[in-house]
Amino acid sequence: METFKALLITRDETTKKQSVAETTLTPADLMEGDVDVRVDYSTVNYKDGLAITGKLPVVRRFPMIPGIDFAGVVEASTHPDFAPGDRVLLNGWGLGETHLGAYSQMARVSGDWLIPQPEGFTAAETMAIGTAGYTAMLAVMALERQGVAFDSGPVVVTGAAGGVGSMAISLLSRLGYQVIAVTGREHEHEYLASIGAGEIIDRAELSEPAKLLGKERWAGGIDAVGGNTLANVLSMTRRGGAVAACGNAGGMDLPTSVAPFILRGVSLVGIDSVYQPKPRRIEAWSRLETDLDRDKLAAMTTTIPFSGLENAARDILEGKVRGRLVVEIG
Ligand code: NDP
Repeated sequence: METFKALLITRDETTKKQSVAETTLTPADLMEGDVDVRVDYSTVNYKDGLAITGKLPVVRRFPMIPGIDFAGVVEASTHPDFAPGDRVLLNGWGLGETHLGAYSQMARVSGDWLIPQPEGFTAAETMAIGTAGYTAMLAVMALERQGVAFDSGPVVVTGAAGGVGSMAISLLSRLGYQVIAVTGREHEHEYLASIGAGEIIDRAELSEPAKLLGKERWAGGIDAVGGNTLANVLSMTRRGGAVAACGNAGGMDLPTSVAPFILRGVSLVGIDSVYQPKPRRIEAWSRLETDLDRDKLAAMTTTIPFSGLENAARDILEGKVRGRLVVEIG
């Protein structure tokens, strides 16, 4: 590929204001790496929204091509694990933050960050899952490691109609868990029930400052919101239960106390999808192959063109995106 299309974020170093524009680049513009990939599909995660709009300082190098996930085909490689023609997948590893990212028809990356495209999925499906779905899978695996099983009691999922939330609901329900979805979008109740929520509660119920200990309502939780929401989830978790903290859509703070931990033995597990070691990445994707309902994945996915990226970035930060977005790059 002599030239290719990319979305580029630049910053005026005097005003510190960033701008975003579609541009044409050449391979010489790319950063170092031992594998060149022709990108077919990407997706829009909350973090991509933050990067494109500049709402939080996600981008730590300018100019930057945003986009933290891609699926594509190897064009050139000096990495021992990959050869031209291989279908590959990348989630995280600083793409779109410190390394030129996925919203580009061509990417050059370290082969250590790549995994082969799982056989059970198409490239577009891997991006329908994307970091959001992969994170939801890591969260389910973390709860399992803490002993939360489908018969332990209900599991609560916050930010339910978003990407991580929708994927978590779908995975948990397929695994036999009773799922309680927490949402601020009343018009999405039917959607949430269709992907596996057995009970739905309004997010306002969990948005006030938490009591030290609340009524025990669930055995586990997957939280995409943070702030008072996570504090309430913790204070209402049953004795010996566990909560996976995945996100901060409602805030970075955590106004809680030690009460749930020392009086009920509740565990809080952090989920970082960006720098997972390769065996854990492969394990998560192989679990997705067995545990994810493809029909539900299709029902929660919308495909958008490359030209729709900037609008999608704004929409996801405003909480307007339901489920997952796939972006056609190639
Ligand atoms: P989405 O925007 O798709 O979902 C976030 C959801 O959170 C919204 O749909 C909304 O759900 C809810 N929400 C938004 N704002 C608020 C608010 N102020 N108070 C309460 N609820 C709110 O984003 P993603 O699913 O892609 O990401 C969710 C979070 O997880 C983000 O913070 C993201 O950065 C983080 N994340 C972390 C990862 C990790 O490695 N730890 C990986 C991937 C994501 P509803 O409308 O149903 O109420």
